[in-house]
Amino acid sequence: MPFIGFNNLKYPEYEVITPHTHLSFTVRSLSVQEEENMKGSMMTPVKVTEHLNKCIYDAIIKKPESIKDFQSFLKQVTLKDRDALLYGLYHITYEEIRNYDIRCSSCKKEYPITIKASDTFNYNSYPAEDILTRTVKVELPVSKNISVFIKQPTLDDEIQALKTLVSIRGSNIDAVTQTLIIDRFEEDVTELKQPNTYTDRYDILEGFKSLPARDRRKINKTYLDTFGNYGIELKMKSYCPSCGFEEIAIIDLVENFFRMVYSV
Ligand SMILES: [Zn+2]
Repeated sequence: MPFIGFNNLKYPEYEVITPHTHLSFTVRSLSVQEEENMKGSMMTPVKVTEHLNKCIYDAIIKKPESIKDFQSFLKQVTLKDRDALLYGLYHITYEEIRNYDIRCSSCKKEYPITIKASDTFNYNSYPAEDILTRTVKVELPVSKNISVFIKQPTLDDEIQALKTLVSIRGSNIDAVTQTLIIDRFEEDVTELKQPNTYTDRYDILEGFKSLPARDRRKINKTYLDTFGNYGIELKMKSYCPSCGFEEIAIIDLVENFFRMVYSV
């Protein structure tokens, strides 16, 4: 008979509460087709990010009412929330973290570990409801006339910044990612009543790159203290087979997710 599709096909499901926005989603396992689609998407940073977001969104089978479509999903989910959703997707699709390479920080040899994803899971929920609107003023230690306002970026902030900036010559993806947490710069100029305010992504990137190195450290530290400690973390203890050194490893889920997609 011609194939008409399986009558009884069930995908495993898993509920995720996002640590930043406290929304409840149910995700289902990826299908073989979806895994194959991921492999074709690895050309540019913009494509990878777009595809990752779409892949997670398509695997959601229950979502809060406030999320009407893909665009509102991007605007209401933070990068840390995506980590949690990705964890859910990973856990329900693969279950195990296989052959993850750890470099021993004592003898520098590499060794692979395999572990159940759920054994590594740590969750720290953001304690308020203002994550999408909160900005925090950072007084810079060196450039005292400049204030930086930081925020927690959403998926929409990320994709907009990547689309505007990555194609511009000389702007590397790493610097773009680092500036996602900056909402705006304000510079007090003696002759002016109002500060000069910069909100354009390109201006923010250029402003960021021109700062003295010590100012960047203060921006990053303030971000970590305010937003950065909330979210999920995949942490595990491992022992080096060569020298016995005990290591607490933190697993990079996005990187590992793509590794898994390729290793089937
Ligand atoms: Zn070692």
